[in-house]
Amino acid sequence: MSDKIAIVTGGSRGIGAATARMLAARGHDVAISYLSNADAAAAVVRDIEAAGQRGLAVQCDAASESETERLFETVDKKLGTLTALVNNAGLTGKVDRLDSAPAETIRTCIDASVYGTIWASRAAVRRMSTKFGGKGGAIVNVSSIASKLGSPNYYVWYAAAKGAIDSLTIGLAKEVVKEGIRVNAVAPGIIDTDIHEVSSGLAGRVEKEAHLVPMGRAGTPEEVAEGIVWLLSDAASYVTAEILQISGAR
Ligand code: NAP
Repeated sequence: MSDKIAIVTGGSRGIGAATARMLAARGHDVAISYLSNADAAAAVVRDIEAAGQRGLAVQCDAASESETERLFETVDKKLGTLTALVNNAGLTGKVDRLDSAPAETIRTCIDASVYGTIWASRAAVRRMSTKFGGKGGAIVNVSSIASKLGSPNYYVWYAAAKGAIDSLTIGLAKEVVKEGIRVNAVAPGIIDTDIHEVSSGLAGRVEKEAHLVPMGRAGTPEEVAEGIVWLLSDAASYVTAEILQISGAR
């Protein structure tokens, strides 16, 4: 049992999985959500338990308000009082120009990223806020430097979704700042995960585009997790409404 209880959405792979493992190593019980990859989610839960913490995997489409409510209710019952939320679930959709991208690609991305972050943040505030009798907590949203670059010819809808997440981070942080909740975001650059080959359909992107990063390489999921875990921790007690770029200066 821990007094630090976290939800990481999209915790079965990539940045979410690295964050869930790191949170467990630093004393959190961790619930992860996933969309369809139950085996990968189960492997992350095994690692959380191997770190001596309680782990839980819940299938939950981040885009769905009702599924998100069920995720939080499951965590209430099985783990206890939520103290940390990482809104990480997201996807780009296949690379395209806006004028030819299928509506479904655009909608799926925006629904998971923007509505996903909104539904989960709302559920977290209702539990954490001192206004509702909660004990406070911290939220970290996973944005992207795409919100600044705009991602032309790749996925401008994804960049726009991340821009919405940046605005939500700043606004919600100010809304709940006196209710014991800090809200921050990380904005990763090119990170070596499945998102490029599987979601974007960009085979070999991490190697091909490393030269675009001033540091000369892609980042690792663990390098992003370090920022997320720090923002959630008491060490960042005076940090809120911040968007922390983790991008090798891209
Ligand atoms: P990834 O390796 O493709 O993993 C995506 C994760 O999100 C998986 O756990 C997946 O679950 C889950 N997921 C996708 N859609 C979902 C939905 N509708 N509901 C619930 N879970 C869903 O991606 P990643 O690179 O780690 O990306 C994680 C976050 O970082 C995203 O928000 C992404 O935009 C952001 N980001 C990534 C990069 C990068 O270069 N990698 C850069 C900037 C920002 P399943 O395993 O079940 O499919």
